[in-house]
Amino acid sequence: MLSTTRRMPRRVGPVRSAVPRLFLLFFGCWRCAAGLPLGGRAAGGGAEGKQVFEQKRTILVLGPHTDDGELGCGGLMAKRTAMGHDVVYAVFSSCRRSVPDGLDRDVLRHEVRRAVEILGMDPDRQLILKDYEVRTFPQYRQEILEDMIRLRAELKPDLVLCPSLNDVHQDHATICREAIRAFKKQSILCYEEPWNNITFSTHVFESLSPEHLETKMKALSAYESQRHRTYFQEDVMRSLAVMRGAQLEGGYAEAFEVVRWML
Ligand SMILES: [Zn+2]
Repeated sequence: MLSTTRRMPRRVGPVRSAVPRLFLLFFGCWRCAAGLPLGGRAAGGGAEGKQVFEQKRTILVLGPHTDDGELGCGGLMAKRTAMGHDVVYAVFSSCRRSVPDGLDRDVLRHEVRRAVEILGMDPDRQLILKDYEVRTFPQYRQEILEDMIRLRAELKPDLVLCPSLNDVHQDHATICREAIRAFKKQSILCYEEPWNNITFSTHVFESLSPEHLETKMKALSAYESQRHRTYFQEDVMRSLAVMRGAQLEGGYAEAFEVVRWML
């Protein structure tokens, strides 16, 4: 069960100049977007560097199934929403076929709405829920591509997040490959789900405050139907956030692979 009561250690120390440039590009915007002057250190883990997301941006998170977006980048979703960016979460399956016996087949549709609300988003406006059958995405590749092209036209996202190219789940792999086809002129980052990744390159980091991580953990706790899964155990997701934070200078973080970055 996911608890939200554990006390979080504080981030320590400034980000050093050796931190990869992409990190600075992506995360340098925190203070600016929050209306704060550059310099010093923010509770949100802001780093100094070139500002990319100076204005409100549209961030599209592609989730093969309900919960993938929250697991892979729930901290980013909470943080960027709080900063005023427009985060839209498009999910392609509510996995009716894999819902545990005895539960409502639509339980995940309800749970994802609660999770999105906890992240600070409006599920009526910022959650798009498709209904492809779980584990069948490869045979609907073209339909999924066309859905994404419609999303591109409607939302005009500045940044798209999707699973990794090294994700072995057939649905996740389909979403990533079709996203690369559909969003040819957008920045694309891949989020991390270690239980499905053969390998994962930590190109980019989103540093998270204790509050961002707590919000992510609360959102994950909305998935009561998934608590039996190993990766929904509290220590798994907290440990990953600590590990990615340890690659910086402590605190918490989520890591991403870069497919394309538009400067
Ligand atoms: Zn999934």
